[in-house]
Amino acid sequence: MSHEYEKVDVPSDGEPIEVVDEEADELDIPENPIIPIVHGDGIGKDVGPAAQKVLSAAADATGRNIEWMRVYAGESARERYDENLPEDTVRAIDEFRVAIKGPLTTPVGAGFRSLNVALRQTLDFYANVRPTYYLDGVPSPMKAPEEMNMVSFRENTEDVYAGIEWEAGTDEVEQVRDFVEDDMGFDDVMHEGEIGIGLKPITEKGSKRLVRKAIDYAIEHDRDTVTLVHKGNIMKFTEGQFSEWGMEVAEEEYDDDEVFAAPDSLWETQDEIDIPEDAVMVEERLADAMLQWMQLRTDEFDVLAMPNLNGDYLSDAAGAQIGGLGIAPGANFGDARVLAEPVHGSAPKRAGQDQANPSALILSGELMFDYMGWTDAATLVRDAVEETISSGVVTYDFARNLDDAQKVSTTEFANEVIENIEKLS
Ligand code: NAD
Repeated sequence: MSHEYEKVDVPSDGEPIEVVDEEADELDIPENPIIPIVHGDGIGKDVGPAAQKVLSAAADATGRNIEWMRVYAGESARERYDENLPEDTVRAIDEFRVAIKGPLTTPVGAGFRSLNVALRQTLDFYANVRPTYYLDGVPSPMKAPEEMNMVSFRENTEDVYAGIEWEAGTDEVEQVRDFVEDDMGFDDVMHEGEIGIGLKPITEKGSKRLVRKAIDYAIEHDRDTVTLVHKGNIMKFTEGQFSEWGMEVAEEEYDDDEVFAAPDSLWETQDEIDIPEDAVMVEERLADAMLQWMQLRTDEFDVLAMPNLNGDYLSDAAGAQIGGLGIAPGANFGDARVLAEPVHGSAPKRAGQDQANPSALILSGELMFDYMGWTDAATLVRDAVEETISSGVVTYDFARNLDDAQKVSTTEFANEVIENIEKLS
């Protein structure tokens, strides 16, 4: 690989992360890796630099050194390259394998493709992973928010992300209607008059690799269950099929004493299922009921695996239970690659004011460290964020829901986290 870029420099002191075995998801991580970073639009300009400093401090405290490689997307890319997503950025994230980004704005309206979706699809980051766990001191609407400790695996390339829709009133939508009515014989369900039609493709490959990733994660992180969340009672051949393919992975690719498939779990409670001790149980739940169970029986769920749209709804709702967007981290995983990014967007109203909460981006970095095998640095980051929040030092979003909190800026919050990293290490 040449590592030559048009407008960005590769740090000369760092070493690139190399792939050992793509299929086995194995990377060789040096102690001074080059990691591309996109600060992002809007509040990305505030939380990007803040999170970068915190993550550097955690790497330093555990005897390593990150050589950051600033790359650009969105507004900052338009200034430098006159385009939204330059080749330099896509190639850097592709070639260096481990990267982190802040939020990017997607203007509403036709003609602007989401840069986030473009990045995820171009580089085949097929699993969007969003952990939801409670940190002491975070304001939450729940009575027992600490019961939430769940990781959502959301399919990231198909279902509604494949985005095949036809607009009402166009020739195309009428052609699709004719095909469905005349050739496929569904004349009784396609009402007369204006119509919008969408396709929802869900493939065997897309479903199986997502569920496989979720199961592997559960095994590696000592979790008890993987729950396939779908609406297969209504969408039998897309969502129902997702679940069947997922169960096939559980049944065919793992030993029974390691992974136990429970295809009847829709109709049975967890107590009624006889699971081998220490095995990960792969069960299923209907998406609508799951939104209820998540609140009423929060501690029963560990790892969720879901098609794209369910994953979007479910993980945002789960995030609200433990403090909301300011603290909801995420990461996109492919084979032997990760792009960490928070759940939140660019929050334009707060942009450039040094007010936004950098926790979500910092904790996305924790996920990145965990994937790199830097578990000591990951733990340090999480503990330092928790220590900061539980001592009452918080940004505006938490301060307004807490009595006696000390409201600080993005920069001050990050500095406090760094002090706690130094104290805890
Ligand atoms: P948003 O997440 O940007 O903000 C919604 C609200 O949540 C904000 O007004 C703010 O009150 C709060 N919030 C979000 N992040 C916060 C933080 N770190 N600290 C404190 N408060 C925070 O959602 P939106 O307003 O719907 O979207 C704004 C833009 O972001 C849109 O262009 C959208 O497309 C884009 N977006 C990007 C991503 C991404 O880059 N992955 C994700 C979601 C939305």
